[in-house]
Amino acid sequence: MDPFRLIIDGKKVPTKQCFEVINPGTEKVAGLAPLATKDQLEDAVRAARVAQKSWEKQTERKRQTACRRIAERIEAHAEELAQLLTAEQGKPLGGLGSRWEIGGAIAWTQYTASLSMPPKVLQDNNEGRVELFRKPIGVVGSILPWNFPVMIAIWHIVPAVLAGNAVVCKPSPYTPLTTLRLVELMNEVLPRGVVNCVTGDDDLGPMMTSHPDIGKIVFTGSCATGKKIYASAADTMKRMTLELGGNDAGIVLPDVDPKQIAEGLFWGAFINGGQTCAALKRLYVHDDVYEDVCEELVKFARKMPMGIGTDEAAMLGPVQNLRQYEIVSDLVADARGKGRVLLGGDAPVRNGKKTGYFFPLTIIADLDNGDRLVDEEQFGPALPIIRYRDIDEVIEKANDNPNGLGGSVWSRDITAARQVASRMECGSVWINKHGAIQPNAPFGGVKQSGVGVEFGQEGLEEYTDIQVVFS
Ligand code: NAD
Repeated sequence: MDPFRLIIDGKKVPTKQCFEVINPGTEKVAGLAPLATKDQLEDAVRAARVAQKSWEKQTERKRQTACRRIAERIEAHAEELAQLLTAEQGKPLGGLGSRWEIGGAIAWTQYTASLSMPPKVLQDNNEGRVELFRKPIGVVGSILPWNFPVMIAIWHIVPAVLAGNAVVCKPSPYTPLTTLRLVELMNEVLPRGVVNCVTGDDDLGPMMTSHPDIGKIVFTGSCATGKKIYASAADTMKRMTLELGGNDAGIVLPDVDPKQIAEGLFWGAFINGGQTCAALKRLYVHDDVYEDVCEELVKFARKMPMGIGTDEAAMLGPVQNLRQYEIVSDLVADARGKGRVLLGGDAPVRNGKKTGYFFPLTIIADLDNGDRLVDEEQFGPALPIIRYRDIDEVIEKANDNPNGLGGSVWSRDITAARQVASRMECGSVWINKHGAIQPNAPFGGVKQSGVGVEFGQEGLEEYTDIQVVFS
């Protein structure tokens, strides 16, 4: 098995040491990833610094064209990328799996390539002219999680380079391979050094967040790591976009048709096996429809095939890694004694056997705030359901959480749903769906779910500093 290489200054760079990347569906080795040294990270930052100086001098139109060509490269290699993604991440090829993620990466790249940041004239009169310019920050450090290794890499890298920055990207040690290949493809159409990719242990992250030559960190990952990054970057006063964990609440009003909303609730909660930042992670259902919603949701969930990602029939895959599998098992074990298990609930006994990190789809009713599966982010295929009677009380419960990424309201009465939505403390609220992000709408968390936004004009502007010229 040939090891993958780092991508530094437009070249494929070997490392002395490699590490194994495990396919979570089979627990076999999916590939060997390069283990970058501190010196190699320094090489990547240096290459990015040099490349950025000329990259920012290119016209915006040239950078837009380059981004469009990135989308073309991904499209030309879509199936190859999807297969590699499934091998290391575990998600199915079909359904809302790898091919869908690659399709999303192409769509996001194309849309972002169409954005522009012309100077703004703030004043032009007898007293003078005042103009606002958006200038690139310099070198952007991108630190990625393991749930959407291609799509999130695109969310970080494309707006950064469009704005005239250069990037050093560091994938999660669990899923480095597809991102390395993606950056290799980007390098076919970008000048060398504009996008670099280093992989290795978690210790590369702190080196990046304290690096004096990295001007901004864009990080997607857990709240715990986000807090460390926020603290470590203070010394060099880095710009920050932090997209952190969520514990999204969904509130079902009493007028719904349970059968009609079951599919939307299911995919809202279980997309990517629940390993999605803005997935529905706590479901509050009104007493009038509680038993019917539970029944319809379970009926829909029972039909969903889970399997190895290369099985074309599979709609859901394994948990991505053993650490996350254990977090989910622990939270479900705690909830089992407190609520009513409607589906799943029993983690298969592993006994050292390599059977893949498959955790059964789990739905547990009759839980409440204060139970760990409700209060903590499960980030896996387990959904708690909570009964409510009073709308003020349920909004208070939905907001009683340090996270504030997304939320949803389910009702036939859109006006009533919008009123509830406006009272939810979160960055995005969906009505009769959950988690449907799109490239033209800013996305980010409030409270401890993050700082800043991604996507759209507002997301692009986060990769710039403002300069105002008075003349
Ligand atoms: P994680 O925080 O464990 O790791 C994310 C990345 O941070 C990895 O690349 C890791 O190597 C790196 N890292 C670890 N320690 C570091 C440090 N001290 N300094 C710098 N970098 C460090 O997260 P994960 O387990 O990969 O991802 C799951 C979490 O990500 C969940 O909480 C989920 O909600 C969140 N997430 C959020 C969004 C969003 O957009 N808000 C999207 C996807 C995932």
